[in-house]
Amino acid sequence: MSRIALLSEEVASQVAAGEVVERPASVVKELVENSIDAGAKRIEVMIRRGGISSIRVVDDGSGMDRDDALLCLERHATSKIRTGHDLAAIHTLGFRGEALPSIASVSRFRLATRERDALAGTEVIVNAGRIETVRDGGDAPGTQIEVRSLFYNLPARRKFLRTENTESSHVEHQLHLQAIGHPQIGFVFVKDERTVWQLPPAAHLRERIRDLCGAALAAELLDVPEFATEGISIRGCLGKAGVSRSSRAQQLVFLNGRAVENNTINFALREGYHTALMKGQHPVTFLFIEMDPAEVDVNVHPAKREVRFRNAAWVREAVVEAVRLALESDRASWSRTFRGGDENAQRPTDDETLPLIPQREQVALRKDWSALPVQAPEKHPTSSEPAGAKQDALTPSEPASLNSQHSTLNTARDFKILGVLGKLYVLMENASGLVLVDQHAAHERILFEEMKRRMEQQGVPGQRLLLPLTLEVSPRDGDWLDRNLEVLQRAGIGLEPFGSGTFKIDSLPTFLRATEPTQLIRDIIDDLRETSAQTSKLRLGEDMIAKTVCRHAVKANDYLREPELVRLIQDLLACELPYCCPHGRPTMIQMSYAELEKKFGRKA
Ligand code: ADP
Ligand code: MG
Repeated sequence: MSRIALLSEEVASQVAAGEVVERPASVVKELVENSIDAGAKRIEVMIRRGGISSIRVVDDGSGMDRDDALLCLERHATSKIRTGHDLAAIHTLGFRGEALPSIASVSRFRLATRERDALAGTEVIVNAGRIETVRDGGDAPGTQIEVRSLFYNLPARRKFLRTENTESSHVEHQLHLQAIGHPQIGFVFVKDERTVWQLPPAAHLRERIRDLCGAALAAELLDVPEFATEGISIRGCLGKAGVSRSSRAQQLVFLNGRAVENNTINFALREGYHTALMKGQHPVTFLFIEMDPAEVDVNVHPAKREVRFRNAAWVREAVVEAVRLALESDRASWSRTFRGGDENAQRPTDDETLPLIPQREQVALRKDWSALPVQAPEKHPTSSEPAGAKQDALTPSEPASLNSQHSTLNTARDFKILGVLGKLYVLMENASGLVLVDQHAAHERILFEEMKRRMEQQGVPGQRLLLPLTLEVSPRDGDWLDRNLEVLQRAGIGLEPFGSGTFKIDSLPTFLRATEPTQLIRDIIDDLRETSAQTSKLRLGEDMIAKTVCRHAVKANDYLREPELVRLIQDLLACELPYCCPHGRPTMIQMSYAELEKKFGRKA
């Protein structure tokens, strides 16, 4: 007796619906995407009771004639692709031809649609996948779809729905994505008869972000300088250095107009921010990537949330570069703010009005840093502090270099050091008000950039060990070391395979004075293996430096004399990313006169 039977069309649709329609938010997503594909300029979404009771999406798009209005309810009916060939070049959000029949098979469904110039529109009523009524209707041009009693015919699925509030917040999140992804479209969201938001069409992404997320968030964002390399272009807005969230909720990425979740991009963002992001935190992004649709497979996930790239490394590099450019562009404006802004009339004009750090002086300054006694600071104790206080500090206290003529800032003009608070915070005055600098974080940033620069240019010099050490590792660690020997070498760690499961360490970076080198290498492997899976070799070196500079930077409680402080601040301002330490924490806080006046009640 045969045991296999073809499923009825009805059951087949319900099975397909299981993949596409998970909850009210997925219905909203599919309907809104259809409206966008239909060229709508305005989309209104109304939900009742979290969308469980009803969802209505009204658009002013192309509409459908009677034949299409019936055909769109068939499975695999789509106007968006014709052949398998077209799958390689998808320019629309939909293409599977599954959403409408799936949704209609698990709800009470009503479609009313009219083409712009048609004399009459069409109304179709479907219950649990069965067409009940077809008649003239659909008054306004465009399409209106109403989905009531979701999963009423599938009690098992209905049980999986969460509370109305939860479902409603999923819907709202989905609409957020669509509204940010398509600023040129006006959106209205009505929940239980109450208008939650109403967004006019926006000319710019920033406008839409401000309308939807508020001015405070918009103020924390940088524009990505328009950036395009071979076949890929990136634009959008990104959080400034140091701006982060504990979840990915505000990490939005759109690929060819579609909100996507993709690990390659997530890692690339993380890598792009790198030291401007605190550990465990996520960046805030509104990133738009456009690329040849042939380079990306969107047909991986029924709800098209996930995508797969043909060349992930290429995408990653482009994203990293875009983030880097954005952060870099912020540096100039930051420097201006630090000095009180261009428009600040109080600033004396006697001096040259060169950029903050003239190029040639920057070079000279940095040479200076590398001339510092990085190997054995304890041989140069400074008289002003108790012996041993700076045992492992890579100090900027060498008098010779401090007296150097390479003054990068006109100290008197740009800032004045007032003192040190709690042996940690340097208090300064600049044109805009009060500045607090965390001396430890500042020094970390300076050391980090110096080491990084050296590593990029010539590699960090290694210091030979008198007696080479051997390190036994697991096969997995051994494999990782094998693949990264070169980076480690550049970072000053001399490592060589030494027979099965063993490596020989014969040198360590000069800036590193570890009492337990083998343990240190183990720690570094552990730390780095986690972060390195997706990051570039260079970043791996940077990570190692970031992890080690911390131990060597001047600490809280380290006493710095005035010239040392001046030097610290000058060097910090010369950094590429002066405003945060290599772990993403801020190095300085500015308190403007305006803020002070507000605090003292001098100004409303
Ligand atoms: P897909 O979007 O993958 O093509 P759907 O089942 O979502 O599949 O929709 C089927 C077809 O119905 C679409 O290809 C489109 O031609 C038509 N359609 C759906 N929604 C709308 C709409 N709001 N306005 C105009 N046409 C629509
Ligand atoms: Mg669709």
